[in-house]
Amino acid sequence: MEHLVRSCYKQGGYVFAKKAEEIAREYNISRIARLASNENPSPPSSPAITAAEKVLRQANRYPDERVDVLTRALVAYHGDHSFVTGVGMDGVIETLIRTLVEPGETVAIATPTFSFYHLAAAAQGAKVASVPREKDFSVNAENLTRAGKKAKVTILCSPNNPTGNATPVEVVREVLEGIGGVLFLDNAYVEFSDVDYLPLLKKSDNLILGRTFSKVHSLAGLRIGYAFVPEWLQSYYQRAGTPFTVNSVSAAAAAHALLDREHAMRYIAQVKRWRKRYSDEVKYPVLPSDANFVMVDVSPNTGDQMVEKLARQGVIVRSCRSFAGLPDHYIRVSIGEDWENELFIQAINGL
Ligand SMILES: *Cc1c(COP(=O)(O)O)cnc(C)c1O
Repeated sequence: MEHLVRSCYKQGGYVFAKKAEEIAREYNISRIARLASNENPSPPSSPAITAAEKVLRQANRYPDERVDVLTRALVAYHGDHSFVTGVGMDGVIETLIRTLVEPGETVAIATPTFSFYHLAAAAQGAKVASVPREKDFSVNAENLTRAGKKAKVTILCSPNNPTGNATPVEVVREVLEGIGGVLFLDNAYVEFSDVDYLPLLKKSDNLILGRTFSKVHSLAGLRIGYAFVPEWLQSYYQRAGTPFTVNSVSAAAAAHALLDREHAMRYIAQVKRWRKRYSDEVKYPVLPSDANFVMVDVSPNTGDQMVEKLARQGVIVRSCRSFAGLPDHYIRVSIGEDWENELFIQAINGL
């Protein structure tokens, strides 16, 4: 009966990192450094846990469909903007495409980048126009704008996963002003950079900034993300989403995590310290990064070979092979706890 399945799902899906438990078992290693998924290695902040536990006791009831507790926290933190929320930023991306893109219309994507954009667009019948970045992975504004003129949604990730570089505000402004539809700017890692795209929101009605609680806020397991959207889009997004998309536990945890600035600041300081140590101490070329990970050029190894070698030493990193448009000799390494980062440096330099 498999012929019934849509063709977009027969071409493979999202590629997940290997599980720590599997590697521990396979190589008989007790302590695994988990540096493949760009998570904050610290548990969620205590206020977030307390709030989530309290709400869990009322989980017999449907959640607040307007997600007021989180929206209020977002306004308190960021000021008066229009927000939408979803099941991870991935959920936000999926719902936004459903809100805006008719089958056959185009989604333009600056590549190489996060693979979910392509999967989400193709799954909803969009045509995908990939717009390659330059050799140094900077964005060619002219090329992206040209593709974006014919696209309903243009997607740009900054700082970019997996290359780590951020796109300057002026370049984003140029793209915003030249394209035909909306620009979805994925800011999953913006907290680790010095760029600030918020001033662009004031002057444009076609900019969406995607954010997540999965990285700096330590809530990857609760699947919650949000976006700054132009006011005209907010109510349509809500119609396009499933009823009660965001669960009450995640919403409460996120609202409190957002306001625990110290929790975020601690990890941001850790990231800045270790980006420098990675680039100073790793014997392979480490690309400059504005995120909580770095991309490492491991040639003459392939990324897959290096992932395998490091796994034997108890270090899980991400091969960049699944990022379309990227040569096969890169790995992506997160910044975790001190011992994890130290183990990574020691392991890769010993190979
Ligand atoms: C991690 C990540 C996300 C979002 O993840 P969610 O867990 O779905 O919120 C979005 N974009 C990029 C580029 C990411 O790396």
